Amino acid sequence: MRIVDVKAFAVRIPLVEEFRIALGASKFHEGVILKLLTDEDITGYGEAVPSSRITGETIETVMGLLSRIRKRIIGLDPLAYNETLEQIDKMVLGNPSAKAAIDIAIHDVVGKAYGVPLCRFLGHGSLNSFETSVTIGIMDKDSSVRKALSLVEKGISIIKVKIGLNPLEDIYRVKAIRKAVGDDIRIRLDANQGYTVKQAVRVLRSLEPLDIEFCEQPVHWRDLDGMREVRKMTEIPIMADESVHSPTDVIEIIKHDAADMVNIKLMKSGGIRNAIKIANICESAGLLCQIGCMSETRIAISAGLHLAIALDIIKFSDLDGYILLSEDFASGVSLRGTCNFISDKPGLGITVNTKILEKYVVARI
Ligand code: MG
Repeated sequence: MRIVDVKAFAVRIPLVEEFRIALGASKFHEGVILKLLTDEDITGYGEAVPSSRITGETIETVMGLLSRIRKRIIGLDPLAYNETLEQIDKMVLGNPSAKAAIDIAIHDVVGKAYGVPLCRFLGHGSLNSFETSVTIGIMDKDSSVRKALSLVEKGISIIKVKIGLNPLEDIYRVKAIRKAVGDDIRIRLDANQGYTVKQAVRVLRSLEPLDIEFCEQPVHWRDLDGMREVRKMTEIPIMADESVHSPTDVIEIIKHDAADMVNIKLMKSGGIRNAIKIANICESAGLLCQIGCMSETRIAISAGLHLAIALDIIKFSDLDGYILLSEDFASGVSLRGTCNFISDKPGLGITVNTKILEKYVVARI
């Protein structure tokens, strides 16, 4: 099989509400949808969600890169995906979300070629769903409580609360949420590097009695000694997120004893192939994994979901990035209760409505 054409669409979709975390706020989803066409009439979809603060990319750099390497992708064999992705990896340094788009589209083609959902191809025989947390951004205490209660009413039983801007307010907010939702709802935290070591220890220690499942990235991504310090001082398990992009980064986490768990995101790792390498290292070292996401359409979400279903070491997922989109041109992932379900179609199992896609296209290749 050969890739015969590569198309890319930069899209901008309004969110239903502003989403604020310790790193900033957003009102729009911005990403690049990739379409790979093959000589056997199989089309694969992928998606890049660049973030200048996390992946060092923008929509413009992703579109620029894809147009530069487009001709070198044409002619490659998607079924020889290990070799093909290795070649693409060597074409250019960095650019993980752009590489993720290509990697996801190639995996979509492979699943479709073999006629099985991607998670079956990757090794899991029976499951078709995975539980997810739904995130509450940074907002005032009363709004956070209202949001938490509305999620619980919708059947969500795992809530992830963004913290990291104001330690004292964070403590009050999380306590208020726990009090409002009761003891049966699972609560996770994400500080997005917002604290100093001292602040992180103070916040997490005060929240210990609240049965918190884990806290993502309490301090700066480079401060692995600080992460270890926080980890030693609190019972709440610490999950590395921004500190881990590549397989090499996990090795550093292990050497520094800096985390109990790792949050894998396809946009950081450069796609499924590297995500599996990260998960394998974690499994060998006894670190549990989560599959997380950026603001993503159901294309990239489904890729993460298939991976979460396929690998045993992935115990948690935070795949709610599509819920805030005002409209999605991709279908095939659905949230029922607190679980995301895949469709039974092969590959990613998603269908793209090109009419809806066209409404949000701001640039194309
Ligand atoms: Mg995070």
